[in-house]
Amino acid sequence: MILNPLPPAPSSPPPSWYWSLPYAAVALFVATMAALLWLTHRQDTEEQRATLINDVLWMEQNLGFQFDRNNSHLTQLGPELLKGGTLSSTTQARLRQALDPESGLIRILWLHTNGEVRGAQPPYTDSHLVGEAGGTFPSSSAHRLSRSMGRPVYSDAYAVIENQTQFEVHVPIFDGGRYLGSVVGVYSLNNMISRQVPWWFSERYRVSVANNLGVEIAAKSRVSPLSSLAYEIPFEPPGHGLSLNVTAYKSEVRWIPLLLMGSLGVLAAAIVWSLWQLRRHMQRRQAAEQALRAEHAFRKAMEDSLNTGMRARDLKGRITYVNPAFCRMVGWSAEELVGLLPPMPYWAPEALERTLAVHEMVLGGNAPPQGIEIRLMRRSGERFDALLIEAPLIDSEGRHIGWMGSMVDVTEQKHAQELYRQQQERLQATARLVTMGEMASTLAHELNQPLAAISSYNTGCINMIGKGDMSPGELSGILEKIGKQAQRAGQIIRRVHAFVRRSEPKCEPVDLNAILREAVGLVEPDAQRRGVSIHQDLAEDLPTVAADPVMIEQVAVNLIRNGMDAMADAPRAQRNLHLGTRLQDGMLILSVADRGKGIPPEVAEKLFAPFFTTKEEGMGMGLNICRSIAELHRGRLSFEDNPGGGTIFNFSLPVQP
Ligand code: ADP
Repeated sequence: MILNPLPPAPSSPPPSWYWSLPYAAVALFVATMAALLWLTHRQDTEEQRATLINDVLWMEQNLGFQFDRNNSHLTQLGPELLKGGTLSSTTQARLRQALDPESGLIRILWLHTNGEVRGAQPPYTDSHLVGEAGGTFPSSSAHRLSRSMGRPVYSDAYAVIENQTQFEVHVPIFDGGRYLGSVVGVYSLNNMISRQVPWWFSERYRVSVANNLGVEIAAKSRVSPLSSLAYEIPFEPPGHGLSLNVTAYKSEVRWIPLLLMGSLGVLAAAIVWSLWQLRRHMQRRQAAEQALRAEHAFRKAMEDSLNTGMRARDLKGRITYVNPAFCRMVGWSAEELVGLLPPMPYWAPEALERTLAVHEMVLGGNAPPQGIEIRLMRRSGERFDALLIEAPLIDSEGRHIGWMGSMVDVTEQKHAQELYRQQQERLQATARLVTMGEMASTLAHELNQPLAAISSYNTGCINMIGKGDMSPGELSGILEKIGKQAQRAGQIIRRVHAFVRRSEPKCEPVDLNAILREAVGLVEPDAQRRGVSIHQDLAEDLPTVAADPVMIEQVAVNLIRNGMDAMADAPRAQRNLHLGTRLQDGMLILSVADRGKGIPPEVAEKLFAPFFTTKEEGMGMGLNICRSIAELHRGRLSFEDNPGGGTIFNFSLPVQP
């Protein structure tokens, strides 16, 4: 098989893990990138936490400064306030300054040594103090503690109206070791938080204060942050279990890592998708290849098992493909045949001309659909007859790319046909002989009676004449009887003659060339079998002639067969039979020239005699009948020596009968 070989199948399919590799690589890549991003995120969070702690510490310090500053203000104001009498304008101014909203103080009280309130700025009523849980205002415990400790002491925080939480700082005032009384600064926890937390801090964090039970008692903002980033420190001073909670608002969305992560995800998904598609495509392709390979193997097996030879040729007649049956038939291998141009090595030299004509006919697209029989040659030189059926070769795109021929060896078949034909011929010949024999015996039998009667009448006559006792009347009676018997014999002969002649020729205008071609067609297979080449030299524009076409064809076939018989022992190259037609002297002449053994004079004498034959199976009636046919048509049958050896028979017919 040379045509379109398929590429070989891969030696082994890839292992199942082969396809997992790219997925694993993608997963590893995504995991690495996710880990990197997570690490970056953690680092960011740590940084944010460190910033938060720094900010909270700063805040704590800031608050501490403010408390210290307030305490020092209250300490300075103490002697003035506790001195008694009306407050000087300077003291009032300093009081106002100390009560600046920024300081967080909402009220300043000054107490007697026993803790009683001597004065307050701004003045207050008890209604302000709703909500204090079981305590006194100002806190007596803080007062006592500060007096005994000799330093500022902060009270518990306590709730007052409008959800306000307050606490106090008690600052004891001494004059050279003598306790003069205390100055109390009242803080509003809410004011403190809202005033002391700068704007930039509150933008980033939510600041709140919780009591010792963890309940929020003051906050800078009502909005609760979503972030988990928070820090808690004891709210010192005032202490007493208060804690300062700072929670970061949700940190700003970091778009770059997010985008990076998103695009990584999309990329990974795209890679996985395309890998999956690729795999599906490859699987489909593999399945298609497998199907193609199976189809190819099936077709090849089919072609190899065929007994019909197959051969493809391109438009120039070059062989492009032959199947094993073709190679077996001709004996050449596919490698030797493919690529060859005519003449092919399997063309029989003696039939070269005809084979080439058939080849041209096929390339011209005129091959008969029922096929052509040609004689071909095997590599061994043995000849064989093949039936060739040619069809156009059309490729997958519908283009005509050459010719596909199927070839069947019909030698055996033809041989069988020929044997059958010969047998039939022999049977017919025998039948004819038998018929003739029967006819002859019937004739003899029929004639025997009148002849015997004539003979006996004749003997009777002679005896009577010899005795001399015969009257003329008796003699004429006997002679009449003899005459009657002779007439009867004549009738018998005429009847037989009429039977033999059977019919008159049925004349019609005939074309001698056409009849000759028909005759050649009839004897062609026989000629091929005998290795005889028939050459025709037919004159053109011959007039038609009135004749019985069947009879004329019979003459032509007889003469051709005789010519071929005469060349039976001649060398193969010499077995040429030339047929010709011509118009000469108002006669149409059909000539058959062979290169056989010729006709010796002793044969020539009896050539046309019935039943004369020199052949084992001959009947010797052929030339006799031919001459009768010639005479029936008012023509002639003659023969002459062929100058090149052999004999020429001429059968002539008058153009004007
Ligand atoms: P048959 O062919 O049956 O013998 P024919 O009447 O046709 O009978 O031929 C009679 C004989 O004439 C043949 O047997 C043969 O000897 C001789 N003869 C006929 N044609 C030729 C020929 N072309 N060359 C030589 N001899 C021939």
